[in-house]
Amino acid sequence: MVFTEVFVVAVVLSVSLRLYLASRQVRHIAMNRAQVPAEFRDQISLQDHQKAADYSIAKTRLGMINVFIEVLVLMGFTLLGGLQWIQSFTSTSAEGILAGLLLIAVVGLISSVIDLPLSYYKQFVLEERFGFNRMKKSLFVGDWLKGLLVGALIGGPLIFAVLYLMREAGQQWWIYAWALWFGFSLLLMWLFPTVIAPIFNKFTPLEDGATRQRILSLLQRCGFNSNGLFVMDGSKRSSHGNAYFSGMGKAKRIVFFDTLLSRLNDDQIEAVLAHELGHFKKKHILKHLVFSGVGSLVMFFVLGLLANTPWFFTELGVNPDFANGAQAMALVLFMMVLPYFTFPIRPVMSWMSRKHEFEADAYAAQQSAPQHLVSALVKLYQDNASTLTPDPLHSAFYDSHPPASIRINRLNSLQGAQ
Ligand SMILES: [Zn+2]
Repeated sequence: MVFTEVFVVAVVLSVSLRLYLASRQVRHIAMNRAQVPAEFRDQISLQDHQKAADYSIAKTRLGMINVFIEVLVLMGFTLLGGLQWIQSFTSTSAEGILAGLLLIAVVGLISSVIDLPLSYYKQFVLEERFGFNRMKKSLFVGDWLKGLLVGALIGGPLIFAVLYLMREAGQQWWIYAWALWFGFSLLLMWLFPTVIAPIFNKFTPLEDGATRQRILSLLQRCGFNSNGLFVMDGSKRSSHGNAYFSGMGKAKRIVFFDTLLSRLNDDQIEAVLAHELGHFKKKHILKHLVFSGVGSLVMFFVLGLLANTPWFFTELGVNPDFANGAQAMALVLFMMVLPYFTFPIRPVMSWMSRKHEFEADAYAAQQSAPQHLVSALVKLYQDNASTLTPDPLHSAFYDSHPPASIRINRLNSLQGAQ
């Protein structure tokens, strides 16, 4: 019973930490709700500031409810016998790898159904209340069904191959499975812009005009080749705006949400794109890829050790059936339990991400004017109702982007240096 206790302690620690950080965030934002921070007083009204505070608090509270749901579901599946119960009929309905595939499909479907009420609430109650929701209910259902279908079509064959390797490739299966998994994710990155993203959104080439000319000359200045500039109909789901790169090599695309183009002027669009180019030029995407490659190799190694170890199953409430689907069960258990052991890595990842944001900002300040990036960011904070006053500890732990005031002060100091 040692691992059961280790597992329970890890769950209790990570849940308490997440709830503690969330409560700090709520308290900090509420404390700063009465006044716009001095450096934003000229651009952001008290009304907008308070909307951002209320929106951030509502999202954080919903996140706290989600922590409870997740832990109940986890315990239901593991120690309370849910997975054992599912296995009792998947291993009698099919054999070998197919039994495993069936087990993963059933668990995936159940998890997806459990997630539905909260994501429905988030979209149609929370986002709706703050005026961000643009989604019709039919689109929500359509997205869910398409997501399941795409997941089955892409995930099914991959999981089948991994289960096959786990059974047939001997002690070193985890190396082959990792190579397959990593190769497959590179393939997906390559296919994403042209094959997968268009299933969910419409992409149209950016029309010729002043904006396009500004962007093209920026790309030329930065020595960047891309396979096209596209506008995505993000407005059919949400009024939040964004811009991103996707794809690799020649299949690289630059994608602007229509909501971003309609809200920013050409100077600001250029600055936002210069920031995105900064991520590319500073090799952040490559670094991230190497990091996740090494990280996943370690995960597969650990899974390699656990997958044939009976206590890993029994201590988590499952009697392994090594003839039918124990490999799949090992995968399921591992994926469920892993986040509760890796949560201490989260602040390190966030810190690295924020470091990359500063570097991309510095690049953007060289290639376009920093004051345009500042005004674009202020507008985006305002439009997205992002809080300007996050709790410092919560932010250090979770935030992929630096807090507003620190980021803007840094940009303004770059401006001074020019
Ligand atoms: Zn960035």
